[in-house]
Amino acid sequence: MKYFGAHVSAAGGVENAPVNAKNIGAGAFALFTKNQRQWVAAPLSATSIEAFKQRCAELGFSAKQILPHDSYLINLGHPERAALEKSRAAFLDEMSRCEQLGLDRLNFHPGSHLGQIPIEKCLDIVAESINMALDKTHGVTAVIENTAGQGSNVGFAFEHLAYIIDRVEDKSRVGYCIDTCHAFAAGYDLSTATACEETFTALERIVGFRYLRGMHLNDTMKPLASHVDRHQSLGEGALGIEVFKYIAADPRFDDLPLILETPNEERWPEEIKTLYGFAS
Ligand SMILES: [Zn+2]
Ligand SMILES: [Zn+2]
Repeated sequence: MKYFGAHVSAAGGVENAPVNAKNIGAGAFALFTKNQRQWVAAPLSATSIEAFKQRCAELGFSAKQILPHDSYLINLGHPERAALEKSRAAFLDEMSRCEQLGLDRLNFHPGSHLGQIPIEKCLDIVAESINMALDKTHGVTAVIENTAGQGSNVGFAFEHLAYIIDRVEDKSRVGYCIDTCHAFAAGYDLSTATACEETFTALERIVGFRYLRGMHLNDTMKPLASHVDRHQSLGEGALGIEVFKYIAADPRFDDLPLILETPNEERWPEEIKTLYGFAS
């Protein structure tokens, strides 16, 4: 079964996200469980939690169709002690919010070395951060997203994902998400069916599909290996439509939240319809 959707708004409360998803014909969705540009947020209210669970049940969204995303401020590989602790505390809060909502995974960008430490050291810190959060939570998988490698962001090479996963103690609660725009920006060609075959064969060899917990489906405004993260509507960028046909037809992407983060929200209903068309 394929589950296509988009990163929908949770404005006015997390309980609005499943409704917003249903309204665009989605079978999956992503959301922020708090304002993604602020460090602290009020705890989720019991009413909000209850309404979220009830609406998800009514509208047919189970945990495997939902991919919450953490705040952009968090850097789990931060080279400085105080800033790292702030990020770790915020991440733990995000994991706890997912747990409260009955969700089973949290998607996050691994972190940045800020030019102060080597990539490997940064990846070690990220892995330690994940272990700490997993120690204090239950049932929520930490889902590492591949990055475009913009600035000093780590996680652009598939080897980075494997390196972190290797160092996480509880392998049952760690996984990853591939963003097609980020992969292409990082130098993994996905613009033809043959290129997809090669890239996903490399992914299987280096990380393994068994750890895959979701996908971000985005075209890109920038060329291969640009290391610049600029999403574009499906089929309108440098990637083109082939990769989305490929993913829709490939059973390795079954039963996962497959999420659009494309820039033109008005096109989401049509993009979702197109993706379901490719899958049938
Ligand atoms: Zn993404
Ligand atoms: Zn992006």
